[in-house]
This record gives sequence, structure tokens and C-alpha cells, in this order.
Amino acid sequence: MKKGLEPFVWDYGAPGRVGAVLPEADVPFVELPPGIPPRKDLPLPEVSELDVVRHFTRLSRLNFSIDTNFYPLGSCTMKYNPRVNEKAAGLAGFVEAHPLLPQDLCRGSLELMGRLQELLGEISGFSGVSLQPAAGAQGELAGVMMIRAYHRDRGDDKRTRILIPDSAHGTNPASVAMAGYQAVQVPSDSRGNIDLAALEALCDDTIAGLMVTNPNTLGLFEEHIVEAAAAVHRAGGLVYGDGANMNALLGAFRPGDAGIDVMHFNLHKTYSTPHGGGGPGAGPVGAGEKLAPYLPGPVAMKTDGVWGLGMPPRSIGRLKTFYGNFAVLVRAFTYISLLGAEGLRAVSENAVLNANYLMKLIRGRYRIPYDRVCMHEFVASGQVTPGTRTLDVAKRLIDYGFHPPTVYFPLIVKEALMIEPTETESRETLEAFAAALLAIAGEAEADPELLAGAPHAAPVRRLDEVRAARDPVLRRHA
Ligand SMILES: *Cc1c(COP(=O)(O)O)cnc(C)c1O
Repeated sequence: MKKGLEPFVWDYGAPGRVGAVLPEADVPFVELPPGIPPRKDLPLPEVSELDVVRHFTRLSRLNFSIDTNFYPLGSCTMKYNPRVNEKAAGLAGFVEAHPLLPQDLCRGSLELMGRLQELLGEISGFSGVSLQPAAGAQGELAGVMMIRAYHRDRGDDKRTRILIPDSAHGTNPASVAMAGYQAVQVPSDSRGNIDLAALEALCDDTIAGLMVTNPNTLGLFEEHIVEAAAAVHRAGGLVYGDGANMNALLGAFRPGDAGIDVMHFNLHKTYSTPHGGGGPGAGPVGAGEKLAPYLPGPVAMKTDGVWGLGMPPRSIGRLKTFYGNFAVLVRAFTYISLLGAEGLRAVSENAVLNANYLMKLIRGRYRIPYDRVCMHEFVASGQVTPGTRTLDVAKRLIDYGFHPPTVYFPLIVKEALMIEPTETESRETLEAFAAALLAIAGEAEADPELLAGAPHAAPVRRLDEVRAARDPVLRRHA
């Protein structure tokens, strides 16, 4: 074993040790085609089953997960993922369905898609839903492309700009740019809403639309949502809703009723698919009458009582092979079906209650820049003393056994600490987390070095996160 490194699978085992016995081949042997010499040397670990189990169990314990720790990562909705979802997603009828099966042999899967489209439409107030997009960001791109197709169909070619509030998630301007539009920033007012006067001043016939997140990334309900949508519509634009924060609104507010024309859902956030580590997720889009014909397809459609697939009449086309990330759809369908309308409403009520309770517990020591009743998350400043940096507070939380909140986002709050507890956490957990944050505020005053050196008890210390993402070293041995 190399000194200073965690044991890895090559460190277990011995030459000749095996953990699996392959069955006799039941197909004839064939020679490799000429030009492909068999490899003489294939240095694979030679390990028993127990070695493999220990290896992966040990690796899994090096990470934080919602199954082991409180994970209040703002904007990401790291809620508990009920195990029954996994059971449903693992049913043989779903797992073993080949994506090229003729529709007659997979009516059950198609019905699940159709009924999920209907449920999402009912929850959000949209007449059409497509399950194609693989993530929220791809749903955004789909929605902006639908807006573009709508304007083009009407011969309205002078619209080149899309308005985006300055609190928006970075994927919003990225999606706008990918769809060929220019992103124009709209400032927020002192209550954290869109500055309505500034928005109205920007609304002219060069505006293709507005992209708005509600509740916004400050965790605040957008109080001018109806007026903002109306102003954009008066100028001939359309309104995109970023639905990533729907965990605050289930059963209480339908974006489709408030003037939003198209919106994405983050099934992996609101509807409890395990996420982090890069997916898979799903970002279905819902649309009202004007934009539903442009939805990406194919979508599930019912003809003579039977679910099949079809393309919306003016569809922007396909975004994903086959049926999207199907297992994520099964999880969302299971989650929604089991909770029902009342259960979903309780999800959002408890998510909002938990966030407000936690905000109250820490607001004596941590400044809340937009201090009003929050929705499912809130943004504090980590600057508990003039010299304290949010990054240090976040890293120190790891020593207390908590995953840090989102930091330095949204960009309009200096030293932002964005905290989303979700509905599945108990009062005791919230209080323990608040106690840790208060203790860290005390440490920041008494012993700033302690924070600057944190985490002290983690397998790795401070990483160059950008380099780790852009230039990862995935091989342990040269
Ligand atoms: C997570 C998130 C997105 C992007 O969703 P992905 O599924 O990660 O692509 C967009 N907007 C907001 C506000 C989000 O929180």
C-alpha cells in the first residue's frame, strides 16, 4: 500500500485470487479478426468478492451523501430519496424493456410516461408536457428554442434579447446564449424581487422573452411575478419559468396560472431522484396553449384509449435518444403517485417551515441580507466577523459532520451562504446544524486560524475545485 493514500483495490488480493466464476460459454468461440492481437498483459486486480465489497464500501464512506449526512446545499434540493422509488425503477418490466421495442410491447412504459406528463401538467398548470430533456439546463435550452420557434413562425425576426434577473442561476444566461439570443440583465429591488420599473423600461419589440425563477435564488417568492409576466406579454415577448425551485410551491401555486408560458421541472430535485455526481436527471418542460405545439418530442399521446408516441405538431425536435432518462421518470411517477395532492402540498409546507425555522435559529449571528419570510431556502452572509470568509465557514462545517451549503451564489449577495434544508429533515437535525453554525461563528472570533485550516477531519483538505473538475487525475498508478 502506498504511504499516505487510501487503500485501493490493487492493494488487496494476491496473484491468482478470484472472486467470480464465469459460466461455461454457451456460444461458439470465434477468432479475433486479423489485426487485433490479443493483449498479453492485462494488469487487473486479482481479488476476492470480499475484497471488492470492502473496496467499494470504503470508497463510499469517503464521500458525503444524503444517506449519511445533512446536506443543505441550496438550490439543489438534496432531499431524502424514498427507497420505494428505487424498487419501482428496478422492476423487471421497466429495466428489461429494450428501447427499440415496438410500441405494442411496451404500453405500460408509455402509459407511465403519459400519466406522468398529465400529473406534471396538473401540478404546474400547463396543457402540454414533454419528458425529453435530460436535465434542468437542457429543459431551459428546449424552452428558449420553443420561444425562438414561436417568434420565427410569426415572421417576427427582430427579437434578439432575453431578459434575466441578476439573481438567476448561471444556466439561464448559458441557455439563452446557446439558443442564439443575447442575455440582458435585470436588476433586483431592495426586497429581492425583480425591479419592476427596470423590467418595464427594458420591454420593447427586441425582447423575445423573460427568464424568471420563482421562488428566486434568494429563496424569496417573486412578488411581482404576475405584473412582470404581463409587462413582457404586452411587449410581445414570452415568459420562461425556471422551475428548479418548485419544491416550495407544490399544491400552492401553479406557474401556468400566473402567466408563465414554458417551464422546466427538475425531477431529480423536487421529485426525489438521487443526484449529485453528475446525474442522471430529468428536466421535463411544460407549456401553455401558445407553446405546447413546439414541445420537444416524441411525447406520450393517447389515441383511442391507448398510449403511444407522437410528435407535437410544430415540435423543435428531439433532444435525447429514445425516451429520455426513463428510470428517473419512474421514480418521479412513484413519488407523486404515493404522496398524492395532499402529500405534495405537505412536502412544500414542511420545506418552507424548515427553512424559516433554521433561518430564525441563526439570524442572530449570521446576517440575512434580504430579511423576509423565505420559501424553501434562504441566503445568509458567512461574514460573521469583518475578516471571516464564507468558504472557511463552509469548510469548517465538514468537521462538524455537515455538508456545506451552497457558497458564493447567488452572485448579488457578498459572501453568500445559501441554505436549503428540505422537508425531510427533523427538527433535531435542524437544531444540531444551527448549533454548529453558531459554534463556528464563535470560533471565527476566538480562533480564525482554526477556520482557515479546515477541514481538519476529512480524507482530503482543500482542493483546487476548478482543476479537479477540468483536469481530473483518474489514474492512481502511472
Ligand atoms: C439546478 C438548477 C438549474 C439547472 O438544473 P440541472 O438539472 O442541474 O441542469 C437551473 N436553475 C436553477 C435555479 C437550479 O437550481
